[in-house]
Amino acid sequence: MSTSIHLENLRKEFRTLGNTHVAVDDLTLDVPDGSFTTFVGPSGCGKTTTLRMLAGLETPTAGRIAFGDRDVTDLPPQRRNVAMVFQSIALYPHMTVRANIGYGLKVRGVPKSERDARIEEAAETLQITEQLEKMPAELSGGQQQRVALGGAFVQDPDVLLLDEPMSDLDAKLKSELRVEIQRLHQELETTIVYVTHDQTEAMTMSDQVVLLREGELAQADPPRRLFDRPRSEYVARFIGTPSTNVLDCRVERSGSTATVAGHGFRIPLPADALPASVGDAVRLGIRPQFLAVDAGEHRFEVTVEVVEPIGIESVVHGRTDDGTRIDVVATGLDALRPGDRIAVGFDRENAFVFDADGESAVFGDELADDRERSIR
Ligand code: ATP
Repeated sequence: MSTSIHLENLRKEFRTLGNTHVAVDDLTLDVPDGSFTTFVGPSGCGKTTTLRMLAGLETPTAGRIAFGDRDVTDLPPQRRNVAMVFQSIALYPHMTVRANIGYGLKVRGVPKSERDARIEEAAETLQITEQLEKMPAELSGGQQQRVALGGAFVQDPDVLLLDEPMSDLDAKLKSELRVEIQRLHQELETTIVYVTHDQTEAMTMSDQVVLLREGELAQADPPRRLFDRPRSEYVARFIGTPSTNVLDCRVERSGSTATVAGHGFRIPLPADALPASVGDAVRLGIRPQFLAVDAGEHRFEVTVEVVEPIGIESVVHGRTDDGTRIDVVATGLDALRPGDRIAVGFDRENAFVFDADGESAVFGDELADDRERSIR
């Protein structure tokens, strides 16, 4: 089973020692039925608090939560048909893996034959069939977390809530489990809400990524859109690795048009694209993967500091003459050495321009649009 979720003006305040802390602030959001939605953002941005409100473990200070047409804001957890898996693995140590996975079903009075069928199906998808008769202590951390996931999935919840379920696992186990969680999602078609601070997890697994910033919604979109059209510098920097390069520039007059100028380049700026006028500071964002050495329409000088080979590609970390950090990801850069001077370039269709506060954005396709540009 599954359901859509609607959050409306959701707010959560915590009061401690006379101080009020707003953990979630005016969050309005739709989670489509059967989708995989991931909440991502730095530590303390309100991800877990939102998840706990969905589970019914935390009461909102204001706002509503609906599952489909049903308002669940004031319903206790057991009346919401949600299952939750946490970061810390919670298994019963004295029960076999089979009994652990089936425990929730047993409590609900599901007959043993049905229980076994569901347990075996989940175990097969999670590749722990061989472990069913073992005790949790005999399993690795990754296998234990699979058991916890199995226990949640067999309950056939309307919503499965996963709070950083992989953060205690090593990189290899993480990438394996990532695939298995997606396989389970496809088989069961449950609505999944997943919390992580790891943007790679968010981008690879989700239909929708919800990026939070200090309790507020920064952007909610499918992964590719978040990558291509970040609404603010915060989103552009958080999504993608290495982080987006940001260069300080200024709006300048060039003949009868406005341009984004700085670091030796000038990019024509569409009229009325930004709330910025001639003389205003703006910030140009360009992803490391869209920079090239000795190529591109617009170029600037960088001094190489560190070169990190990562398989076929290398990451070059350097600085412009004014000290701005620049990362470049490309092939054929492994011969570069610290201290080398390189000309780094990009095409404007791959750039973003933000206003001085890093808020409203102009995207590359608008920058590459050659229609008449008038000056402001
Ligand atoms: P992390 O990735 O570190 O788990 P998070 O994004 O999940 O962070 P939350 O756990 O939702 O963040 O916390 C959001 C804010 O609310 C934090 O500043 C946190 O200190 C505060 N907070 C959370 N729970 C409580 C509580 N029970 N009492 C007081 N403050 C709380």
